[in-house]
Amino acid sequence: NPAAMVQAMFHLGEMVTATQSVSDEILGLLGQEMNYTIQVVSPEEEDRELLDTFDITYGEDAGDEDDLEFRPPVVTVMGHVDHGKTRLLDTIRKTNVQEGEAGGITQHIGAYQVVTEVGEQERLITFIDTPGHEAFTAMRARGANSTDIAVIVVAADDGVMPQTVEAINHAQAASVPVVVAVNKIDKQGANPQRIRQQLTDYGLIAEEYGGDTMFVDISARQGTNIDALLEAIVLTADATLDLRANPKMEAQGVAIEAHLDRGRGPVATVLVQRGTLRVGDSIVAGDAYGRVRRMVDEFNEDIIEATPSRPVQVIGFTSVPGAGDTFLVVDEDRVARQIADRRQARMRNAQFASRRKRVSLEDLDKALKETSQLNLIIKGDNSGTVEALEAALLKIDVGEEVELRVIDRGVGGITKANVDLAIASDAIILGFNVRAEGKVVDQAAHEGIDIRYYSVIYRAIEEIEQALTGMLKPEY
Ligand code: GDP
Repeated sequence: NPAAMVQAMFHLGEMVTATQSVSDEILGLLGQEMNYTIQVVSPEEEDRELLDTFDITYGEDAGDEDDLEFRPPVVTVMGHVDHGKTRLLDTIRKTNVQEGEAGGITQHIGAYQVVTEVGEQERLITFIDTPGHEAFTAMRARGANSTDIAVIVVAADDGVMPQTVEAINHAQAASVPVVVAVNKIDKQGANPQRIRQQLTDYGLIAEEYGGDTMFVDISARQGTNIDALLEAIVLTADATLDLRANPKMEAQGVAIEAHLDRGRGPVATVLVQRGTLRVGDSIVAGDAYGRVRRMVDEFNEDIIEATPSRPVQVIGFTSVPGAGDTFLVVDEDRVARQIADRRQARMRNAQFASRRKRVSLEDLDKALKETSQLNLIIKGDNSGTVEALEAALLKIDVGEEVELRVIDRGVGGITKANVDLAIASDAIILGFNVRAEGKVVDQAAHEGIDIRYYSVIYRAIEEIEQALTGMLKPEY
C-alpha cells in the first residue's frame, strides 16, 4: 500500500509523498526493499509485447533470405531555408515524369517515385516530398527510419548556413549517407568550390578531393544536372547500402502523411518498407485501423499492389493515423481493431500520467518536491523585450535551492515547437505581447502545459517571483 511504500522509500533515504512520481532507478530500489521485482517497461517494449500476443513481429524479421529483392533508395532533401529544397523536389518531379503517365500531372501526396537511367539500367528513387529535417527527425523519434539517403542542398551563392549544419548533424546521427547538391550555380557569384571547402569541416569530403561524398553542381531553377544528381544518389546507395527487402511478407512500413479528406474520409500516404501492400488488406497504423479499400499513386492512378519503397495513398482507415506512425498488415480486421484499441487505451493512460506530472505556476511548490529547477520558454513581439525580460527574470534572487533556467527564447507567436520543447523539459511558456493560436492552445491544454501571457514586464517578474518564493523548500 502507499503508506508502506513511502516508509520503505524513507528507509532508502528518499523523501517522497504517495502521489509523487519517482525515477525508474528509485522504483527498482523500492522493489528490492519490498521484495518485488519491478520492471520498468518502455512504450516500445510494451508495444512489442502487444504485437507478440498476436504473433506479429515488427521490423527485424526479413523472412527467407532467398526472397529478398532489391528496393529503391528513399531520399529526404534537407538544407538551409531558401537554398532551394522545394524547388529541387518540384524540378525532379517534373523532369522525371514517365511519358504517357496520366498527362504527367502529379499531386502532392507526401512522397513520389522517379525513374532514372544509370548505366543503361532503369533505376527507381523514392523522394519524401516534405523538405527539411523536421519530418525526418520526427519519424526517427518514433522509431521509423524512413530515409536511406539525405540530399543536402547548399546554395552556391550563400554557402554553409546554420540549418545546413543541422541537417548534416541529423543525417550523421542517423548514419544516413549524404549526397551534396550544390544549388543555384546559375547565379552570379555562385562559388561551388567554396562549398566543397566549407563542408570538409563537417566531415563531408568531396570525391574529387579524395573523400567519399558525392557533390553535384545543379540549378534547380534551370534544371541543370538533375540527372547527374539522381545518378549520384543511386551510386551512393549502391556503394554504401544493402537495400533489399522481402516483398513476399505481409506489408509493414510507415505513414508519412495523413489527413481527413472531405469526400474520401481518412487518407494516409504510407511508405512500404517490407512486404507487399494490397487492396483488401487489414491494416493498422498507430492507433488507427481499417481495410485498404483503394490505393492511388502520385498520379492519382489506382494501384493494386505496392512493393517495398513504394509510397501510396491508402483509403480505408476508420480514423486518421499520425504522420510517422508505423503501419502493419494483419490477418483479420478484428486483429487490426484490437491492436488499435489497445494502443488508444495505452495512449490515454500515458497522457493522463504525463499530464499530472507537468508543472504549472499554481502548483510549483508541489512540483518542487520533484525538481528544484524551473524551466522557462520566453516568446515576445520583438527581440528587445525578450532580452529585457530574460535579463530581468535571471536577476530574481531565487536562493540556492531553486534554479531558474531560460531554455529557449524567441520572437513571434507561441508555436507547436515551443510547446513540444515545454513538454520535453517540463517548462512554462511566457508570452509577452504574443499568443498561441488554435491548435497550439489545444495541444498545450491537452498536455497540461502552462502558458502565461503578459504585456508588462514587471507583472511577469512579479508572478514568477511569487511563485518561486512559494516554491522554496521548507527548511527542516
Ligand atoms: P527552400 O526554402 O530550401 O525550400 O527554398 P525554395 O525551393 O523555396 O527556393 C528559395 C528561392 O530560391 C526561390 O525563390 C527559388 O525560386 C530560388 N531558387 C531555387 N533554386 C534555384 C536555382 O537553382 N537558381 C536560382 N537562381 N534560384 C533558385
